[in-house]
Amino acid sequence: EEAGGLGGGDTGSCPPLEGAVEGQVVTRFPPEPSGFLHIGHAKAVLLNDFYARHYKGKLIIRFDDTNPSKEKDEYEESIVADLASLGVVGDRVTHTSDYFEDFEKMARKLVEDGHAYMDNTPQEKMQEERLNRQESVNRNNSVVDNLARFEAMLKGEKEYCMRVKIDMTSVNGTMRDPVLYRANPQPHHRTGTKFKAYPTYDFACPVVDSLEGVTHALRTTEYNDRDEQYYFLQDLLGLRRVKIQSFSRMNFVQTELSKRKLTWFVEQGLVEGWNDPRFPTIQGVLRRGVSVEALRAFILSQGASRRTVLMEWDSFWSINKKGYEHSSPRYMAVFADSCVPLQVENGPESRQDAGAAISIPLHPKRPELGSRVLRLANVVLLEGQDAEGLTEGEEVTLLRWGNVKILSVEKDPATGRVLRVRGRHNAAGDPRATKLKLSWLADVRDKVPVVLTEFDYLISKKKLEEGEDFKDFINPVTKAESLGWADPALRNLKRGEVVQLERRGFYICDRPYMGPEKGVVLFMVPDGRSKAM
Ligand code: ATP
Ligand code: MG
Ligand code: MG
Repeated sequence: EEAGGLGGGDTGSCPPLEGAVEGQVVTRFPPEPSGFLHIGHAKAVLLNDFYARHYKGKLIIRFDDTNPSKEKDEYEESIVADLASLGVVGDRVTHTSDYFEDFEKMARKLVEDGHAYMDNTPQEKMQEERLNRQESVNRNNSVVDNLARFEAMLKGEKEYCMRVKIDMTSVNGTMRDPVLYRANPQPHHRTGTKFKAYPTYDFACPVVDSLEGVTHALRTTEYNDRDEQYYFLQDLLGLRRVKIQSFSRMNFVQTELSKRKLTWFVEQGLVEGWNDPRFPTIQGVLRRGVSVEALRAFILSQGASRRTVLMEWDSFWSINKKGYEHSSPRYMAVFADSCVPLQVENGPESRQDAGAAISIPLHPKRPELGSRVLRLANVVLLEGQDAEGLTEGEEVTLLRWGNVKILSVEKDPATGRVLRVRGRHNAAGDPRATKLKLSWLADVRDKVPVVLTEFDYLISKKKLEEGEDFKDFINPVTKAESLGWADPALRNLKRGEVVQLERRGFYICDRPYMGPEKGVVLFMVPDGRSKAM
């Protein structure tokens, strides 16, 4: 039965899997442990996870470890950790290297049966021949010669690689005798020196998918040309066919995803490491304030399209923000170097009096989130910009406290800048009647220093054209820090928690409170509207 036969089986924007049977679907995510996962990988993982869960099937996490020159244990560990932070738990974790012996046997059989031959044509020449649909001089060598060369390859001899005989005249270039096996004497991170030759991706993928019971192999559309080859190999080897379903790669404007390019940024010192908040790695985007729920919703909402999609960060950030709007507690902060004291004549006596406080909801529209202490004092700090706009005699509202009548605004005669303001709390004042609603902070001794950090894109151009080098479009300044003062309650903020600073936006805690010198490091979470820097 088709997916449509599932009771209430709505796959939303994701097309149903062809021929899916509830309880029997097996999908897989096959990362190569040669780098860190990025936001593009997140699409592949979350789609595979979605289908596995939707059809009450299984998800395999498979480390596709067929190239010992690039792969390392530490990458496996980071991938496992990244999947956990995405909330994805595979039903099985496997390795392509678990099957190396099977590959050896299958490959030898292909040579024995005359389906594969050993070729020492230099790589460039081979490429040219494949392009020109020309046969290799080795294509019709004897099985005896091929077998001897095959065994030599298994011992690490790099001269000959194994190619499968398909069709050198095919209109599909991937069918022109692809390479399936080649020597690599470098030790493998799991199998050590046991093997000295390894299956290529073209060989590994159809074989392991079939052996592991995968029912639906999701692949990005640029592999479409390879589908014919994939099925051909399963048929040739007598393996069960696996249904390929393609989806589009996800890319973001002003963002590079390739390992080679990201490595360049790390090496140039343009970022602090692979988990830099400006980086599109899973670790980077989570640090920047991407919520896993929003990422999942975003990816699944555009899951249907098979066109290569170039996503706008802004549309993503505005979805991301919606979740925080409902869940983030609200606090207040002011810039440290430009804030202006407002003396509240009838405010609580001592500016260090911890007792002068009221209880307010953490979120004005979500009482269920609980409440917090709002400290009061007879001197409060206003944003410098707000202070500049005050006029004597007007009544303004201090958010969450009440109205204050401005009695005097004292300016520096030389610069004209406001130095200090005096006012009187008016408990009977109506906050709805005032024009200015100001954020502020009690100037108490234990107010918390915060580092308000904003980031910009590493790349200055939305979409690079063919032939343009990303190195010519590097943003010179991508990080800005300002010091601020914030509510004493921020002392208890934990890493990764998101708060709203009223009239500023959302911030994620990157480094919790470390004493009055260093304070709390906060990263602004873009909201998709205001340009960050
Ligand atoms: P990279 O070039 O960054 O190394 P890759 O495709 O070589 O990426 P793999 O580890 O082989 O990396 O990828 C694992 C899975 O993630 C594959 O199924 C691949 O198709 C998918 N994937 C990689 N990049 C993207 C992307 N930008 N959008 C969607 N899926 C992706
Ligand atoms: Mg790959
Ligand atoms: Mg790649």
